[in-house]
Amino acid sequence: MQLREHWNRLDFRARSMFAIGIVGLLVLTPFAVNNLINERILLGISSIAIITVLLANSWMIMRGEYSPMMTLLLLVPIILLFLAISIWTQEIIGFLWAYPALLAFYIILPEKQAWVANAMLVIVVVPLAWIILDTGLMLRVVATLTTVTFFSALYIRIFSDLQSKLEEQALTDALTGLSNRVLLQESLEQAIIRRARTKEPMTLIAIDLDHFKAVNDNYGHESGDNVLRGISDFFRTRVRISDKAFRLGGEEFLILLNDADAETGMRLAEELRHGIETLPLLPDRNVTASLGVATLIDEDSTSTWMDRADRNLYKGKENGRNIVIGEDVTAP
Ligand code: GH3
Ligand code: MG
Ligand code: MG
Repeated sequence: MQLREHWNRLDFRARSMFAIGIVGLLVLTPFAVNNLINERILLGISSIAIITVLLANSWMIMRGEYSPMMTLLLLVPIILLFLAISIWTQEIIGFLWAYPALLAFYIILPEKQAWVANAMLVIVVVPLAWIILDTGLMLRVVATLTTVTFFSALYIRIFSDLQSKLEEQALTDALTGLSNRVLLQESLEQAIIRRARTKEPMTLIAIDLDHFKAVNDNYGHESGDNVLRGISDFFRTRVRISDKAFRLGGEEFLILLNDADAETGMRLAEELRHGIETLPLLPDRNVTASLGVATLIDEDSTSTWMDRADRNLYKGKENGRNIVIGEDVTAP
């Protein structure tokens, strides 16, 4: 079960590297044995070296320590050496290994490193093709290698772009562009770890708009959405880069302040409360919010920390709304 969770968390490069490790073991082992039996010692040894590095890489991936740099500096040179020997000894048949190598470099390495690896591959393969093959075959090898490079690079670029877009969408609230709940848990955990390490104070501000149902009822859902967007834009202008604003859902928000003690948190919360009240969001009335502030303490888990901010927020609702409540201080 733990293994499956770990696998789900790996990015596609690490997964591909792992898969290539397994395929490499299955495909290369018979070749390595065959080469050794037929006394093609260099080819045999270099394929065993490739299998060893592939397995070491797979092992590191399962330990969560995959390093593309190790692939570039260790695996790529061994593969190129294997390729050069196999071309030298088997001529045109040896070139066949250049294609999976080229494709694999794009899949297992980040884009820039893949270019470096493939430049190295060209430096090895093209001069050998020049020396060993007649012009017609040489041109065909170069043309097919160029085609495979082009489509691999294109495919990986499209795939990586899509992946980052999907990752961003999964973490972003579609209506407001603020971070959503998915990122919240991780950010709170990081804040707790950071406070334990650096002693920086961390403060949460929970925000819930007042009588928002009435806004929807009186002005329509679309106007309600515009209010949520306007308030989110306002949050974006007011929080520092190191802080983070989340929309938890509905008209509920949370702001995580790094390196901010209770007093700083209360001051910013009060500025936010006042700012929301004065935003020109509806034609003939103001929107207000109630805010609860909680500064992280030693005993806190993510949920007790959020609960304390929430409890203060609901004290604010009970106290007539449009108010900031902190642990023991209340801003007017
Ligand atoms: P209170 O001051 O006690 O917080 O009152 P409230 O009306 O704000 O509280 P309640 O939680 O009862 O209502 C929240 C409303 O927010 C209900 C729902 O119509 C509205 N809402 C939730 N999500 C959205 C949204 O995405 N867009 C819009 N326009 N309205 C939303
Ligand atoms: Mg509300
Ligand atoms: Mg609410």
